[in-house]
Amino acid sequence: MDFVPVNEPLLNGNEEKYLIECIRTGWISSEGPFVARFEEAFAQRVARSFGVAMCNGSAALDAAVAAMGIGPGDEVLLPTFTIISCASAVTRAGALPVLYDSDADSWNGDVSQIERKITARTKAIMVVHIYGLVVDMDAVMALGKRYNLRVIEDAAEAHGQTFNGRPCGSFGDVSVFSFYPNKHVTCGEGGMALTSDPAIAEQLRSLRNLCFNANRRFVHDELGWNLRMSNLNAAVGLAQLERLDTFIEIKREMGAWYTAQLSDLDALQLPLARVPGAMNDYWVYGVVLKDKVEFDAAEAMRRLAALGIGTRPFFWSIHEQPVYLRAGMFSGQSYPVAERLARRGFYLPSGLALSREQRLRVVDAVRSVFM
Ligand SMILES: *Cc1c(COP(=O)(O)O)cnc(C)c1O
Repeated sequence: MDFVPVNEPLLNGNEEKYLIECIRTGWISSEGPFVARFEEAFAQRVARSFGVAMCNGSAALDAAVAAMGIGPGDEVLLPTFTIISCASAVTRAGALPVLYDSDADSWNGDVSQIERKITARTKAIMVVHIYGLVVDMDAVMALGKRYNLRVIEDAAEAHGQTFNGRPCGSFGDVSVFSFYPNKHVTCGEGGMALTSDPAIAEQLRSLRNLCFNANRRFVHDELGWNLRMSNLNAAVGLAQLERLDTFIEIKREMGAWYTAQLSDLDALQLPLARVPGAMNDYWVYGVVLKDKVEFDAAEAMRRLAALGIGTRPFFWSIHEQPVYLRAGMFSGQSYPVAERLARRGFYLPSGLALSREQRLRVVDAVRSVFM
């Protein structure tokens, strides 16, 4: 029987039509019209004034951190349970990530740990909406205001998600999205940084395009990168965005269905259906092995793979990354929730193209491993 992949995107809207338009008009570079159309439509969806499309979400994080003026001597608070891109954006800017642990139930950063880690060197708070649930943005924005800190909101996993009715990605001084194929809206590869501040938007545009001097091309007062998105990627992104509401409905239905099928298994901690301010939209359907299970996530994933089911492990915490430990960073630090999630958590196939038949096979396999 065919392997059930952990993710497969749904590309049956206007993707083909828009791509053909790119080919027929000859517009394939970042100068093509789909880039601005995608930026405007996505910014409107996120209730922001400006969207700056980039080649991927990690690049958008690099640009966002740089646009906040973060550099050597600065500290940036960020959850240890996240993708490396959050930390690498900070360390490559020469600044220091100061980590906080996650909440054991929502798996999102535990905002109550942030305040006591703020120092005179703290420049920004980075938050990450994890796996379809949402960080308490009221609490984060209040801290940012009280201590005069920038807020960087990584909403890569939260397209179309809301907190108290306001779009995720509309809160931070700058917010970042990814359009990797497992995200609700994909471009193949792509990302975007958004803001409502015209000066930050200008910075982001400049950083994306090598910081060309406005008066004399090929003259540079600052160093940027080439992070531009092509018209081809934007064409796919725009077609995907048109269907975002449908995609979220599919994910919510899938998540609720998995929970109904698996909730009697007392080996597994399942995702919360809601947190204050938001209903889960199950960007991915994660599970965590309870303590009574004698093996770890790696073994569970091996057993499921043997039954033809693809899975992915949860994040590996920033404070346990070999690259940082080797540099002497985070030594002696411990974040027990994140450490446990990294070893006991993984996610099931939850892509938008997952068929009914594939879902049933996933549930049968999970039940047979954990009964
Ligand atoms: C996917 C993701 C990114 C990185 O995006 P890429 O486009 O893969 O570089 C950043 N942050 C989070 C939370 C993500 O899930």
